[in-house]
Amino acid sequence: MSEFEFDLFVIGAGSGGVRAARMAAAAGMRVAVAEDRYMGGTCVNVGCVPKKLFVYASGYSEAFEDAVAYGWQNRGAEFHWQTLRENNASEVARLNGIYRNLLANAGVTVIDGRASVEDPHCVAIGGQKYSTARILVATGSWPRVPEIPGREHVVTSNEVFSMEEFPRRILVVGGGYIAVEFAGIFAGLGAETHLSYRRDLFLRGFDRDIRTFVRDEMGKKGVQLHFNHRVAAIEKQIDGSLLVRAEDGATLVVDTVLYATGRVANIEGLGLERLGVVLHRDGTVSVDDNFRTNVHSIYALGDVTGEPQLTPVALAEAMALVKHLQTGQLTEIDYNNIPTAVFCQPNIGTVGLSEEEARDSGIPVVIYKSEFRPMRHTVSGRDERTLMKLVVDSRNDKVVGVHMVGADAGEIIQGMAVALKAGATKKTFDQTIGIHPTAAEEFVTMRTPVA
Ligand code: FAD
Ligand code: NDP
Repeated sequence: MSEFEFDLFVIGAGSGGVRAARMAAAAGMRVAVAEDRYMGGTCVNVGCVPKKLFVYASGYSEAFEDAVAYGWQNRGAEFHWQTLRENNASEVARLNGIYRNLLANAGVTVIDGRASVEDPHCVAIGGQKYSTARILVATGSWPRVPEIPGREHVVTSNEVFSMEEFPRRILVVGGGYIAVEFAGIFAGLGAETHLSYRRDLFLRGFDRDIRTFVRDEMGKKGVQLHFNHRVAAIEKQIDGSLLVRAEDGATLVVDTVLYATGRVANIEGLGLERLGVVLHRDGTVSVDDNFRTNVHSIYALGDVTGEPQLTPVALAEAMALVKHLQTGQLTEIDYNNIPTAVFCQPNIGTVGLSEEEARDSGIPVVIYKSEFRPMRHTVSGRDERTLMKLVVDSRNDKVVGVHMVGADAGEIIQGMAVALKAGATKKTFDQTIGIHPTAAEEFVTMRTPVA
């Protein structure tokens, strides 16, 4: 019999922690998981799930308008924030219950409360101590708001889904996934929406054609884009509105300011520094290929270890870790060609290298591009366009990047990611018969390079 109460103690019941706990228990380990806020973590409670529901909600305003050209009478639909907020909260509560049951049914001991690491084999929660052979830190990440005067007046993605009132005017600060997604959400729901980004073009790291295309499409949908704009201070006015002062002296008055300026590792109060666990300069936990920290009984995975901060990555890491603990084999996660979607409107879907990344790494590239008005809008008359782009390595004809902005881009790019994983060449794409009439068929019919 082991000297420890548990074989594995997981801190954090989010995407990575729940998957690791369930898999480890299924493999016969004695597993505990501690959670101090919400079952299912960021993704279920204040991330992917509510975000996607709010994106759906925001799409109806255009759908109602577009329906008129298809013969539907528009009887003046009105948006009701409280209904969306409450229906979202019910769905999240349903998912919380499912996660709790999954863990219980797998035989995992669930402990509610904030955990800290006392020593390499001991976790403490509210005065109670638990001994364990191994500890897994899966505590995720937390929104980072810069130290500006008035930061106490802003909300982050943690609060935005449960705001009391719908903001008539909103400023979203940031130029990454969350900022772009929420600018689309609030514009679609009918708010006067501003986006502030500190450099000249948002979505740094994505293909430049995608970035400029999204800039133009968002502009058409009424989002007011403020590039090279840096917020200096935020002041609450007598009527409750917020006066936002930029460094260049410009001012803006809104009801809500949403900060989406990145996330930091959620390790406050965990005690890792005290135990000498090595952290990166940005505060994320340093691990080896098997997710082990320099303290041998302590492992970490998911957002707390840094980018890419995506749920499927945390899940893959959890499964790889449990397999490693079971078999001793090295983990085999391939961080190349991770597909991703940004649920702005229209969506971005992307996998592989951007044109700039390919060129910078010395790959001689051939570029194929197609831009068109999607069929739905030939009749609706909406001025929304779709962009598709292939980046091909001319030395071996391999497709090294697939990018799209358009309806359901996330759904379409998932299949493209399989093709890239399988090493598809441009010839493979050309030999594939399209599905008609779809937008996706364009990926197999592009014949003339543009660069
Ligand atoms: P989390 O899921 O954050 O879980 C960590 C858990 O640990 C939390 O429940 C926390 O309460 C708990 N915890 C922390 N400290 C302690 C402690 N000391 N004691 C006990 N419990 C503790 N990813 C996608 O792939 N697709 C998307 O569409 C997407 N949309 C997103 C939208 C938003 C607004 C945000 C913020 C994120 C989004 N993400 C998305 C990212 C995704 O949510 C994260 O990558 C994922 O949740 C990371 O999983 P994790 O297990 O590392 O951490
Ligand atoms: P990101 O890292 O994607 O973007 C942060 C943005 O904030 C960047 O544009 C950055 O600018 C800007 N920024 C950083 N610091 C400051 C500052 N001090 N002042 C002004 N602007 C600043 O973070 P997000 O918060 O958008 O999202 C966090 C992560 O969550 C994402 O990276 C992603 O991994 C995950 N996520 C995934 C989603 C999905 O899969 N669909 C959806 C939402 C989140 P600069 O470019 O200059 O650095």
